Amino acid sequence: ARPIDERPTRIRVDLERIAGNLRAIRAHVGVPVMGIVKANAYGHGLVPVARHLQAAGVDQLGVAFVEEGIALRRAGIRAPILVLGGIFGHQIGRFISHDLEITVSSLDKLRQVEAAAEAMGRRAVVHLKIDTGMERIGVHSYSAGPFIEAAVASPWCEVKGVYSHLACADDPASPATAAQVARFAEACEHFTRIGAPMPLRHLANSGGVLHFPDTWLDMVRPGILLYGVLPDPASRPTVAVQPAMSLVSQVVYFKVVKAGHAVSYGGTWTATRDTRVVTVPIGYGDGYPRALSSRGEVLVRGRRHPIVGRICMDQFMVDIGDGSAWNEDEVVLVGTQEGEAIPVEAVALQAGTVPYEILVGLNERIPRDYL
Ligand code: PLP
Repeated sequence: ARPIDERPTRIRVDLERIAGNLRAIRAHVGVPVMGIVKANAYGHGLVPVARHLQAAGVDQLGVAFVEEGIALRRAGIRAPILVLGGIFGHQIGRFISHDLEITVSSLDKLRQVEAAAEAMGRRAVVHLKIDTGMERIGVHSYSAGPFIEAAVASPWCEVKGVYSHLACADDPASPATAAQVARFAEACEHFTRIGAPMPLRHLANSGGVLHFPDTWLDMVRPGILLYGVLPDPASRPTVAVQPAMSLVSQVVYFKVVKAGHAVSYGGTWTATRDTRVVTVPIGYGDGYPRALSSRGEVLVRGRRHPIVGRICMDQFMVDIGDGSAWNEDEVVLVGTQEGEAIPVEAVALQAGTVPYEILVGLNERIPRDYL
């Protein structure tokens, strides 16, 4: 029996699948893996996922913000953690005291890190960020020489890595990736030129892992692929991964809507015949996209049925036609039921977005169960 305070709408996370995906990726690339667990591990739960990846032998973890790194340290995660995002001066002490590796993305920021490290009497572990075509953060590859020299010469920085980020690797046909690989290689040559040891070079996100062996270098940084999801409809499934997340709810109400009667806010959908409609207790207040209004589908009793009318904050309606359903029947929004499947990639297409946004959008209002 379920405790009374447990909401029937749940996210189920199969941690063993994430570990299996890690093994599949590592076998495919043959180099160490930095598991990306930013944004609540792409909605799967930061600490449980990181703990499981650590137990599965992940080489390194990556997060976006220092707060995420601190949360992992507070949870007892000992694996090396790189914070991928840009830094603010006032945070640098927190990186160092929590043993978090810092992304240094300009000469100014390098000087800030040095000053903070010196003041604390502790060396900072840094990865130098090179911009090879994303124009987000990082020193442009064509002017990286003085930056690399200054970092290598710094007594207060241990240059553990050098990296860049791919803009178009989801698409195996894009020529942009080869250009980024070439620019990155050129920047890395500065280490050799000044006789410095080559730090860990890393470049590949999931798209790189899937499509571009030239990007694998010394370590790869998959995010979405670890969770068993492809980054883009154009991506090719060259690694056999399995989706780790499913999203389920239960029918909370069943009724017949008469022909000519409209459903939900704005009355944007009208029944053309008497039809059976069920209500499902999850909505955009949970991060289930409102863009799925009259577009999305769910599974009930192993059959696919359309969402009708606008998705509300906490509920939406499904037309099951002459199908059968009763209160408390399971509804699958993402995942499988009796051999039918709704992958998150399909939900993203229907919502007009990318699977990333669907996964990370599912918020803390939905309890997570770990298998
Ligand atoms: N590396 C960096 C710097 C990132 O910002 C991200 C996420 O956007 C990743 C790796 C992982 O990307 P993906 O989820 O596409 O594998």
